Amino acid sequence: MKTIEAMSYCRALRCRECGKEYPAKRLTVCDSCFAPLDVVYDYDSIELSRQSFESRPRSIWRYSELLPVKEARSVVDIGAGYTPLRRALNLGSQLGLKNLYIKNDSVNPTFSFKDRPASVAISKAIEFGDRVVGCASTGNLAAAVAAHAAKANLDCYVFAPKDIERSKIAQVAAYGAKIIAVRGTYDDANRLAVLASEIYGWNLVNITSRPYYVEGSKTIAFEVAEQLGWRAPDHIIIPIASGALLCAIHRGFSEFDKLGLIGAAGVKVSGAQAEGCAPVANAFKSNNENIIPIEKPKTIATSIAIGDPGDGFYVLKVVRGTGGVVGSVGDGEILESIKLLAKTEGIFTEAAGAVTIGVLRQMVDGGKIDPDETVVCCVTGNGLKTVEHLAPSIAKPIELDPTLDALRSIKG
Ligand SMILES: *Cc1c(COP(=O)(O)O)cnc(C)c1O
Ligand SMILES: [Zn+2]
Repeated sequence: MKTIEAMSYCRALRCRECGKEYPAKRLTVCDSCFAPLDVVYDYDSIELSRQSFESRPRSIWRYSELLPVKEARSVVDIGAGYTPLRRALNLGSQLGLKNLYIKNDSVNPTFSFKDRPASVAISKAIEFGDRVVGCASTGNLAAAVAAHAAKANLDCYVFAPKDIERSKIAQVAAYGAKIIAVRGTYDDANRLAVLASEIYGWNLVNITSRPYYVEGSKTIAFEVAEQLGWRAPDHIIIPIASGALLCAIHRGFSEFDKLGLIGAAGVKVSGAQAEGCAPVANAFKSNNENIIPIEKPKTIATSIAIGDPGDGFYVLKVVRGTGGVVGSVGDGEILESIKLLAKTEGIFTEAAGAVTIGVLRQMVDGGKIDPDETVVCCVTGNGLKTVEHLAPSIAKPIELDPTLDALRSIKG
């Protein structure tokens, strides 16, 4: 196992709107304008070259200078990140794209990209001296936080809508976390979690340490750049729930650009949602700046069913600023996309991961993508998390008696 050598160049927290700076403590919003706070680094002091990474750990911690955890001994690493970037020749040729890649984050330790932010957030909780952690979750963050909390020997409480998939609940329970199954939507669960963090002082990471938590997700951009041979793609397509992932990936490319590791000025960032919960796509399509929340999300893509996305406004800014789009796909198209990716590339994604494939298909059909562009689709979660949605639409197994005659009946 490689050790984590160089540590963080995190300098401060800075308000995204008014620019006011704060020391890197456990803060969430600016006290003058209530806008979100971002971690800022001492970029001028960071000395990184492409060679710096040659002997580093194969996890998000290879980028420790650009993560907000100060000391190596605080790091809780169960192997998040450094997932495969696969050239998708079969899917690409079906769609008419020559340079399509899948960033396969379904193979993280708890089977979604949420291990990236969870690893950072739980490491940061260790630095803050917290004993109780948790989150509000649509399912995947719950598993990621629960697993990292288990490894760090911390108590863990997760708040999730009651009707998420049974496999997700089983996974979280197996890690030993306490599950608060809220009779309501994700936004209801999140509101309750905010109150719980105030009443009990728990570090519910996507709320109480959000500026740090989101930093983990930008490592997808770092890895993609590295795996493409130190360059940015022309276009990247990302599923949107709160919008934190999309904004983080965009920031990741900008940071590598700022450090002179790649040129990323031209990368187009596009987002994907499910039609049954598409507040950001709706705003994009109607040219609105403000997001109108969805009261009751209704989609099989439960992992991205957030009706009131906290970073929606910033997603629109990034997408419009880079020349991307935000699209949405219906549940039928999501199921088709799950099967298409599985049949062409051997990658089995959950419903939330398949929206990027669906939106890519729409862009190709609409002539909005050049066949030669280097396109990366982020596949963010594993198909085994949502099998119950798929079951009604897949071919039935061929059932046989265990005899030779029966075997001969399969095919003439
Ligand atoms: C959470 C999640 C997302 C999107 O996350 P946000 O950062 O909230 O936009 C995408 N895909 C999967 C599978 C997720 O679990
Ligand atoms: Zn401010």
